[in-house]
Amino acid sequence: MAKVVGIEGLIRPEMAAVGGYVASKSPDVLENEVKVPVADIIKLDANENLYGCSPRVQQALANYPYLNIYPDTEQGELRQLLSGYAGVDAEYIVASSGSDQLIDYVLRLFVGPGDEVINCIPTFDVFRFRTEICGGTLVEVLRDESFGVDLGAVKTAITKKTKMIILATPNNPTGTITPQKDILELADMGLPLLVDEAYVEFSGETVTQLVTQYDNMMVLRTFSKWAGLAGLRMGYGIFSPKIASYLMTIKLPYSVNVAALVAVRESLNDLDYLQNNVRAIVVERERLAAELKKLKFLKPFPSQANFVFCSVLNGSASKIQQELEKRGILIRYFDIPLLRNALRIGVGKPEHTDAVIKALREVGEGIGG
Ligand code: PMP
Repeated sequence: MAKVVGIEGLIRPEMAAVGGYVASKSPDVLENEVKVPVADIIKLDANENLYGCSPRVQQALANYPYLNIYPDTEQGELRQLLSGYAGVDAEYIVASSGSDQLIDYVLRLFVGPGDEVINCIPTFDVFRFRTEICGGTLVEVLRDESFGVDLGAVKTAITKKTKMIILATPNNPTGTITPQKDILELADMGLPLLVDEAYVEFSGETVTQLVTQYDNMMVLRTFSKWAGLAGLRMGYGIFSPKIASYLMTIKLPYSVNVAALVAVRESLNDLDYLQNNVRAIVVERERLAAELKKLKFLKPFPSQANFVFCSVLNGSASKIQQELEKRGILIRYFDIPLLRNALRIGVGKPEHTDAVIKALREVGEGIGG
């Protein structure tokens, strides 16, 4: 008689051991947890765009008649449109359901069990998460005290097993950029180099063009942040045509939905509107950072993204986060080995800065800040 094995016993042990990923809470989940109506929640915890998407996107989607038809698996029009925006030929582009899907696909393309992936920490946790799913071994290289990438340490960490180097610029959650000359130095190592530019529209510094010179360079971008489409899931990457063609082959056939094509078309038809919002967010980021600096219990770090990262000098980041949540203001806190007692606050509209600063002042009075 065969031994009866519980269903859990049939799960691959390496999958059962994966740590998972802690995502932000969606406002509807918070309905009974905060004291303000869901519609009044100020959501500064997931680096979303509080100006929303282009009104043209909403209108076009409301009138879109073909939800019953599958999208073009070759992403023909989508790749053309993205090519115009990114400034590279369409054969360099692959679109995805959010750029995090491409993090997964790119890792699957290069990394198998036992292969090493160099990750410049602290950084976006999806890099760790999807490396583990591939069975890859993470080689974590610490950023320096201002969260810059330590080039020497990255180079020293390279072994025969290294299959990829990943870095985000601007980095999440710290907002730090990596200068182009440093990225070039890493690209020269010849290994697959994944540069995640999810926040690039807020920094204005891109390395997209390097992909046309280095076939090991890969750049990821998204419409979640600058174009206000986080909920719709629209990301893309810029790859050498060979890599792009492998990714097009291994991706799920309909990985990008038809709404994403409509949303990209309309967003790109409304660039002035969206870029105005980006400029407003950049101005607001500097004001938020300046206001945070005035609060003696916080130490904000310079940011090139749409959020500001702060160390909590006096008091507890998790208590501050909870106090703000009670007031209907959501921010992110960290209390892990490399991010001890820290907060990440998204940049919204001026009224959101006013509300978060007011709430922080009230909380600060309680902790003598
Ligand atoms: N990369 C970085 C560095 C991010 O911070 C995020 C979103 N938090 C993403 C990628 C994923 O963005 P999306 O999947 O929404 O395109």
